[in-house]
Amino acid sequence: MNPKPRILGIETSCDETAAAVVDGDGRVASSVLSSQDDVHGKYGGVVPELASRRHIETVERIVAAAMQQAGLPWSSLSAVAVTRGPGLAGALLVGVSLGKALAYALKVPLLGVNHLEGHLASAWIDEPDFPRPCIVLVVSGGHTHLFLVESAGVYRLIGRTLDDAAGEAFDKAAKMLSLGYPGGPAIDRMARMGNAAAIRFPRPYRKRSTLDFSFSGIKTALLYYLRDLDRSGKARSVSDIAAGYQEAIVEVLVDKAFEAVRRFHVKALAVVGGVSANTRLRALLTERARAAGVHLSLPRAAYCTDNAVMIAMAGHWLFENGRFNSWDMEADAGWTLPESHGPVERQGPLQGQARRSSSPGPVALSAGRKVHRGRAHA
Ligand code: ADP
Ligand code: MG
Repeated sequence: MNPKPRILGIETSCDETAAAVVDGDGRVASSVLSSQDDVHGKYGGVVPELASRRHIETVERIVAAAMQQAGLPWSSLSAVAVTRGPGLAGALLVGVSLGKALAYALKVPLLGVNHLEGHLASAWIDEPDFPRPCIVLVVSGGHTHLFLVESAGVYRLIGRTLDDAAGEAFDKAAKMLSLGYPGGPAIDRMARMGNAAAIRFPRPYRKRSTLDFSFSGIKTALLYYLRDLDRSGKARSVSDIAAGYQEAIVEVLVDKAFEAVRRFHVKALAVVGGVSANTRLRALLTERARAAGVHLSLPRAAYCTDNAVMIAMAGHWLFENGRFNSWDMEADAGWTLPESHGPVERQGPLQGQARRSSSPGPVALSAGRKVHRGRAHA
């Protein structure tokens, strides 16, 4: 087997069309991304049908651009990794179809990547030697999940949100405050001008011993706060509201992440996913990590939100473990992430195609990852 495999990653699970080439030593040869904010912005959320249509229009161009940016021939690819789920069914189908066609034409293995595992792998993009065991908090628009990662591709879910994801709480608040879509960056910007102590929002589960999260209550608290304020006729200070709201979410995330570090006696913590781009979250994590002597990894902004580099990285884990997919692989919108990926007996690239990539014992992660926040209703 090629000692340094080169993998093309493709991501179309939601509203980003992305492709990237990553080498086995972790070198990112290229990364190209086309965001659909212009398509969905006016609806205040992702419209699944429009997302699929835009993916169809752009994905081939994006993949070709990634190969061109890498300056590499198609024949140099060792495998094609594509997000198989979870996500929007129609959107996933576009990437999966192209990924299959490319892998088949190039006679290389097909790797169906779980989007969540992609986010997990993003902790190792800029820091290939980031230590394990470690805690990884995946905090995005569809997920708030704490993992104990033991080795490459071997991890355990130790906590998760019981209702809304943190990114969803940011997006909903931005909508209530008419700050536009996507909401997280808008709240982040507003909060910088506000006083976080002016309005105190609840910190759900902060003091509880569980490593699970709950963010739906904080959203309701904001709704009531705005309703009462409107009734009183007082003016809103949007920046103070944004700062107070953000602080509540950030404190809960930071406390739980460090509680996990303490409980599992590890010395390294990574926080990944779209919300990890939040400036206040990054500042507080950095402060706490320094005080606690914990090795902290935060992806650069481009690798926090959806991208294809992380899909190619997770593809490397699957490749190393011989987890290849067969040509009948289908997109799986509600794909639960198997609790643990371990190595399977190594096989030659193409014989291994018959093996499915998912292992038994899935944990129930949020199946409708993006659909609940994504539909442009209400
Ligand atoms: P998903 O994979 O679930 O679609 P992403 O990883 O693409 O999510 O992240 C998108 C989410 O990240 C959105 O909910 C968005 O509001 C949030 N987000 C992005 N930047 C920030 C930020 N600076 N502060 C808070 N949330 C953010
Ligand atoms: Mg994502």
